[in-house]
Amino acid sequence: MIYLDNNATTRLDPAVVEEMLPFLTEFYANPSSGYRCAAKVRKAIDLARERVAALLGCEPSEIVFTSCGTESNNAALNAAMQFEPRGKCVVTSAVEHSAVLRHCQEAAKRGCEVTFLGVDPDGNVDLGELEAAIAPNTAIVSLMWANNETGVLFPVEKAAEICRQKRIPFHTDAVQAAGKVPIRLRDTAITYLSISAHKFHGPKGVGALYLNRNARFRPSMVGGQQENGRRAGTENVASIVAMGKAAELALQNLAEEETRVRTLRDRFEKTIVESVDGTSVNGAGASRLPNTSNLSFDGIESHAALMLLDRQRICCSAGSACKTGSSDGSHVLRAMHAEDRAQRSLRFSFGRFNTESDLDQALEIVPKVVAKLRGLSVQIPAAV
Ligand code: PLP
Repeated sequence: MIYLDNNATTRLDPAVVEEMLPFLTEFYANPSSGYRCAAKVRKAIDLARERVAALLGCEPSEIVFTSCGTESNNAALNAAMQFEPRGKCVVTSAVEHSAVLRHCQEAAKRGCEVTFLGVDPDGNVDLGELEAAIAPNTAIVSLMWANNETGVLFPVEKAAEICRQKRIPFHTDAVQAAGKVPIRLRDTAITYLSISAHKFHGPKGVGALYLNRNARFRPSMVGGQQENGRRAGTENVASIVAMGKAAELALQNLAEEETRVRTLRDRFEKTIVESVDGTSVNGAGASRLPNTSNLSFDGIESHAALMLLDRQRICCSAGSACKTGSSDGSHVLRAMHAEDRAQRSLRFSFGRFNTESDLDQALEIVPKVVAKLRGLSVQIPAAV
C-alpha cells in the first residue's frame, strides 16, 4: 500500500505503541485512586502533559486532554460562547473543518450572529476583513492554523494579536499544524488551540486543548474533577501516554521531517504538473504545510480517480475524510472560487513513513489513471 493520505490519519509510530502497551495491560489503575500503583499512572499522565506542552511551547498546566480534535474545538467554542454576556457573535472562516463549521452553523440556527470570512483564490484570509468583522459583542474568533484539504496556512499569530487588542478570545484549530510546523504558544496571543494525536503518529480518540492560563473556561463535559476540573471523565490513560510519546517524537523530528517531507511533496507536485497537462495546484500562491498537495485535473471526476487509484493500492482522498461519499464537492475549493475544480481534485498528503520509492510508484500510476479517465488508451498494471 502506498499511503498518501496522512492528513486523514497517520500510522502509529512503533515507539508510540511500545510506550502505550503497558498502560493497557499492567498499569491499569485509575489515576484518581489513592494507592501507589495509581500514582505511577498519574506520573505517566504528567509526563505526557509535559511532552505535549513542549511540542506547543506552552506550560503543562495549560494542556487539557480530550477525546479528539473535534471535542477540543467544540469545548473551546462552547466555553467562549457561554461567557459573552453582551451577545453571541462569532467570527470564523468559510474553509474550517466541519468540527468548527458545523458548530458555528448550529449556533447560527440558534440566533448567534456568525461571520464566515471568505478566502481569495489561493485560500488566504484577509486580516483587514477579520478586523472589520469583529464587533464589540464578538464572543470568539476561530480560525484554523492549517487547512486540512489544501494545507494553506492562516496567519493565526497575527489574527490572535488583533483579537488581543480588542480583548476578544482567539481559538485556532491546529489539528493539521501540530507536528508539521513549529508552534510556540508562549510568544502568541492565542487563547485556545486544538490538536489531535492521530495526525502526528499517535492513536485515534485522543486530543488536547490548550487553554491559555488567563483564558476563561467552563467545561462542556462535567462530572468528576479530572484534568483539574476542566474535562470530566476517567482519563484514557494509554492513549494519553501515547499522545505524549507521539508529541515528543514529533518535536524531535520536526526540522528534519519538514525538509524531507517538503522535498518529497515538491518533487511529486512538480513532476505531476510537468507531466500531466491540465493540472492545477490548489493554494499554489499561498504559504502551505510542507506535506500537502491538492491537485485538480481537467477532465476527471475525483471519485472515479480514487477508485482506480485504490485498485493500484494508492490511498489518497478527494478532500476531507469526513466528507467521503458526499456529492457536494469540497466547500474549501468552492470558497476559493474554484467551484469547477471542487469535483475533480485529489489530495495527496505525505508523512514520516513515506519513502522515495512510494513516490516513484505514485508518479508512475497517477498520470496513467488521469489519462485513462480522460478516455486515452493507456496501459495500467492489472489491479492488485
Ligand atoms: N480539525 C481538522 C483541521 C482536521 O483535519 C480534523 C480531522 O480530520 C479535525 C479537526 C478533527 O479531529 P479528530 O478526528 O481528532 O476529531
